[in-house]
Amino acid sequence: MSTERQVYRCQNRACGCEIVVTKTSVETKTNPRCFCGAEMKKPYSPPVFRMLDPDDELVSRLEAGRNLAQ
Ligand SMILES: [Zn+2]
Repeated sequence: MSTERQVYRCQNRACGCEIVVTKTSVETKTNPRCFCGAEMKKPYSPPVFRMLDPDDELVSRLEAGRNLAQ
């Protein structure tokens, strides 16, 4: 009954996909990996800040495009 939903985000900003892990009794010590090979971590972003800065995601996408060229 005490399942905890945790959102992990891909650290590869060019990918940026998110997965929702349903945490049960098994404690996961290692972060999940994205299909692109990058490690996924729980995003540390204050929700209030994100709401006040709606253009932030657009900037992130532009930067992600640059990262693709690396
Ligand atoms: Zn990824």
